[in-house]
Amino acid sequence: LFVAACVAVCASDLLTGNLLTRDLCAAPLERVTFKRNDKTAFVDGSLVEEAENGGVLLMAPDGLLWALQPEEILKRETLEAEFEPLDHDALGEHLLKLLGDGFKVHKTAHYVICYDTSDVYARWCGALYERLYRGFHGYWKYRGIELTEPEFPLPAIVFANRDSYNRFARRELGEAAGSTFGYYSLRANRVIMFDLTGADGPSRISSSKHIDALLSKPGAERTVATIVHEATHQIAYNCGMHQRYADVPLLVSEGMAIFFETPDLTSSRGWRTIGGVNRVRLADFRANLAKRGPDRLKLLLQDDSLFRSSDTGPAAYADAWALNYYLLKRHAKTYAEYLKMLAEKKPIDYATPEERIAEFERYFGDITAFDRQFLRTMTTLR
Ligand SMILES: [Zn+2]
Repeated sequence: LFVAACVAVCASDLLTGNLLTRDLCAAPLERVTFKRNDKTAFVDGSLVEEAENGGVLLMAPDGLLWALQPEEILKRETLEAEFEPLDHDALGEHLLKLLGDGFKVHKTAHYVICYDTSDVYARWCGALYERLYRGFHGYWKYRGIELTEPEFPLPAIVFANRDSYNRFARRELGEAAGSTFGYYSLRANRVIMFDLTGADGPSRISSSKHIDALLSKPGAERTVATIVHEATHQIAYNCGMHQRYADVPLLVSEGMAIFFETPDLTSSRGWRTIGGVNRVRLADFRANLAKRGPDRLKLLLQDDSLFRSSDTGPAAYADAWALNYYLLKRHAKTYAEYLKMLAEKKPIDYATPEERIAEFERYFGDITAFDRQFLRTMTTLR
């Protein structure tokens, strides 16, 4: 089973141009009226960034980021209220309105899950994601990165089947939707997926143990890994590891998501598979070794193009896993410092290829020499 490259990053609607940054916390609620596809609408939110050409990036109370181009904007006004993120209840109502009849809401400490499949499957997802959330925070805390609580409850949508998922996902992913099992929308801040227990139909699932048993089968491991992978992105982008629309190299953000993606369906509290060798990605990494040039890491880091093409994507993802694994095993302290530097980056302020390499070399030294050492270690890994 081939799982398509992750589509967490949806950069098509990004703003370009120089920035005039404002402090998000101090920003009042702003209303921007705009015209898009011949329709006039407005959105209320907190201004995240403003480009010199007049484009704005606005954070709505549900966590959705609106990138509005200067030619779309009709009017901007400051409202008398302060920006306030939706709480669990309000976000649940908001998602129900978006999805329509037949959907229900399941709330956990950090998540709002909107679903039209069985209650037991929604609860199973909630429990899985809460364990991942704790595992992710705990893992990084131990390595010197103190992550924060999310500003918004984390939204997830679970469709009953692949068909209804495809219909929804196609609006954001186009035809690529059909080759995905779930995705994290960087724009909407949501994880979208469908009931993976599949053909038997949701009504046949009696308990979370039953779901664990079904999804522990060898053929299901990679599909579950996808929804764990996407949920990892969501946590990373909401808890201070990365900022949405900031310049985080895919080599780093994807490597990290893959590091956590191996499902652990056997433990009730922890996430024991964190940090293990990802056998699938290691095999992909090895398969690509013969074609690997000495400047491979440089090419992967300097821009994200190798990750975005379906020809080069799978090998790039394998390299991203391998690099993240290597950094955590051999250079954990320096890697944590590098990640903290990336976490400080502001949205839409994109680094040039040269800047990305220079930033890396400031922490790890010459990248070509580093690549040789990395290869030596990873080729002997068992
Ligand atoms: Zn990903």
